[in-house]
Amino acid sequence: MADFGAVSAKAKRYEKAMASFLRDIVAIPSESGQERRVIQRIGAELKRMRAYDRIWTDPMGNLLARIGRGRRLIAIDAHVDTVGLGDPAEWRHDPYRGKVVKRVIYGRGAGDQKGAIPGMVYAGRILKELGLVGNDFTLLLAFTVQEEDCDGLCWQYMVRESGIRPECVVVTDSTNCQVLRGQRGRMEIGVTTTGRSCHGSMPHRGVNAVYKLAGVIREIERLNGRLKSDAFLGKGTVTVSYVDCQTPSRCAVPNGAFAHLDRRLTTGETKASALREVKAAVRRAGVDAKVEVLRYAVPSYTGLTYETEKYFPTWCAAEDDPHIQAAAATYRGLFGRRPKVGRWTFSTNAVSIAGMFGIPCVGFGPAEESVAHTVNDRVPIDHLTRSAAFYAAFPGVYCRAKG
Ligand SMILES: [Zn+2]
Repeated sequence: MADFGAVSAKAKRYEKAMASFLRDIVAIPSESGQERRVIQRIGAELKRMRAYDRIWTDPMGNLLARIGRGRRLIAIDAHVDTVGLGDPAEWRHDPYRGKVVKRVIYGRGAGDQKGAIPGMVYAGRILKELGLVGNDFTLLLAFTVQEEDCDGLCWQYMVRESGIRPECVVVTDSTNCQVLRGQRGRMEIGVTTTGRSCHGSMPHRGVNAVYKLAGVIREIERLNGRLKSDAFLGKGTVTVSYVDCQTPSRCAVPNGAFAHLDRRLTTGETKASALREVKAAVRRAGVDAKVEVLRYAVPSYTGLTYETEKYFPTWCAAEDDPHIQAAAATYRGLFGRRPKVGRWTFSTNAVSIAGMFGIPCVGFGPAEESVAHTVNDRVPIDHLTRSAAFYAAFPGVYCRAKG
């Protein structure tokens, strides 16, 4: 293992190239389901590195690159899709230009989370140039799709359909270059009430499904106050995020009503416990309603639909787990101080990798979580360099820790 200094020096040498590559990929719009062009651009940069043993795209459209021939498979994941712009007038800089102001790159996806991609791509080159590619580990880079729409779906596909099962994954969604070891899970629940429609001029003849749902909604609001909290991951939450009704006319009593719930799950909360609570809320409202976990079935840019339940389990690694210790040691070696190991507030692909499959995950990525999905989406150029060094150094440190 070359010293951390050599890795850092190489990363610094590629800083300009990485910044310019990031500006290129920020300039390619890539909302979920429309990632083809940005995947092609990242693939071209990977080839330019002349470092990777294999570069390929899977049937879902995820781009993968492999280097090394060791028995330990270590993966690094970045999603390449972004959310939309919101109101374009709110943006101070063109969201698709990658404007640089005082060594910070601005644009949609600059922070969440295209900013991690240059560091990953150049990490392979750094490893190769320093002679660190050998028999200890195989490094797999995964540039994944549809995360903003359905976090972790890409890894459900890769683990179940492609048989890819790393022993450890670095998830590079925004951590502000800190080491993170867990996050709340989440699920989307639908509540549907049924009534009987009739003419709006004589409502007593029907049963109003909206009134039935209103009682449930009030109970959901109360439920949120009672959900438990975890000292590390934070509180479980539930909120009504959308309502809808079915009615033959605006002059009629609605025969159906629907509420969409956004449920965030903390330690110890599961799909079963969350569903039980909502069913209990329905009972307290004194109505009958259908309660279900909603499903996701939207085609990827290649046209592949991989349907799943919208249940994304909580995960949390212990601070003394070997992969978290290895990440902390990498951080100390590169940056000269102890990291404060934290957790994410938002959700990432780790909800399936760690939450669903139990594959050890650790978070390390550029950019602040707080600018994600805002018109201030941005990443400092320093973070590109730091993350490149981290991704190049981590596999070796991990292998030495595992012996
Ligand atoms: Zn995001």
